[in-house]
Amino acid sequence: MSAIIKLENVDLWYDKGKPTEVQALKNVSLEIEKGDYVAFFGPSGCGKTTILYALSGIDHLKNGNIFVNGTNIAGLSNTELAIFRQTNIGIIFQQFNILPSLTVLQNVALPMSFVGKNPEESEREARILLKRLNMDEYADRYQFELSGGQQQRVGIARALANNPQVIVADEPLGNLDSVNAKNVLEFLRELNEKDGKTIIMVTHEAWSLRDVKTIHYMKDGIVTGTKKQTSQHTKADAISAHLANELDPAKTEMALLKNELSARVLSNFLLRGYSMDEIRRFEFHLKERLKGKIKTDEFEEILDRPFKEGGVGLWKGKAKRLAQYVEGIVEKRHDIHAVYQIIEKYPELPIRDEVKQIRDWILLDYKGAVSHEQALSIDQAISDRMRNFISSGQFTQVLDMPERKHGVGLSFRTAERLSEKMETIMSGAETIAGPLASL
Ligand code: ADP
Ligand code: MG
Repeated sequence: MSAIIKLENVDLWYDKGKPTEVQALKNVSLEIEKGDYVAFFGPSGCGKTTILYALSGIDHLKNGNIFVNGTNIAGLSNTELAIFRQTNIGIIFQQFNILPSLTVLQNVALPMSFVGKNPEESEREARILLKRLNMDEYADRYQFELSGGQQQRVGIARALANNPQVIVADEPLGNLDSVNAKNVLEFLRELNEKDGKTIIMVTHEAWSLRDVKTIHYMKDGIVTGTKKQTSQHTKADAISAHLANELDPAKTEMALLKNELSARVLSNFLLRGYSMDEIRRFEFHLKERLKGKIKTDEFEEILDRPFKEGGVGLWKGKAKRLAQYVEGIVEKRHDIHAVYQIIEKYPELPIRDEVKQIRDWILLDYKGAVSHEQALSIDQAISDRMRNFISSGQFTQVLDMPERKHGVGLSFRTAERLSEKMETIMSGAETIAGPLASL
């Protein structure tokens, strides 16, 4: 295989020299093979759109080189860039970018007229493209007469207008319901497999990576790692590893560290007021329990056993309560891992029941009342957190935000506490799957 796109030490700034200066790409070097299906994956603001625009010649880079089909586009004038884009790269935008004053057919034919095709020829080819996307009967309609899914299909037809070798798609599923999103994914795969197009997609949703062959992980303007996906199985692994480790390639160390960390935090939290020795001892056995090395009744017995005999020395009632609490965490981590696997395999499947169970657990010791609307908002936040659409900080914010701003409207302290609980079960979801799955 040969590289169709090559980035060499690319830097890109917005507002350079102003107080609002942002370096959106930092020394990015990579190659994209002809015929590959590539995704840039990472949290909002990490530079995904910028990298797409840079390699499409829309955003001007400040340092480095970008070769497309052997041409260094850093050296092209604006006019040359415009022509380059029309013939080499088809762009599918998240916001569809359809011209409202033109019909569907005219929108698709427009890029063809830019490269000098005559109107009859352009319209004939535009019709063929619309037919391929099952949109031929909408040829004479305007944007306002179309659903979101239909608009996206027009956007795709237009991207294909000049038969470019490379198709670039910026969050192509972002504004679509699950059925339409699935159709778009199917179509992208078809373009890659049957038409041999090189596809470059940007996404922050792990499930939309299912057909992708190469994933570039991004964080803060840096490409932090690259993974090749071969089978469905390794794809699911790659994605869950990524979700568990938040872009850190040192997978196992990170997972272990997190487990250690959450055990420490949890021990200090659960044994407030106890001596350091007792807390340390508790932490040790808690880790054993979380790793699945001891069972719950053994754990409870150790908590109750006198300190001198190697136990933690808690009184019976407390030992029982703590063991039960930890059991809840173990179970929820296990559930969450199972839900991850479902999301990865069947992204369209609703996970309402699973989310509701997590919500019930999180709210277990919350004394206030929760309205139906609040419950729905919490469920949305849990689902978004699990799919890594939002960070733990954003999760807290959503719970804390007033209801009129579509938040849940809880007090900040409650929001923080519930968020902590959510993180407790999220952080161990990966590592817990092995030994505990068989308990
Ligand atoms: P992503 O697509 O991953 O969400 P972007 O590429 O849009 O990220 O943005 C990367 C960074 O550059 C962000 O910090 C964003 O705020 C900033 N940025 C993006 N576009 C502009 C712009 N036109 N002007 C100033 N800053 C921008
Ligand atoms: Mg973006």
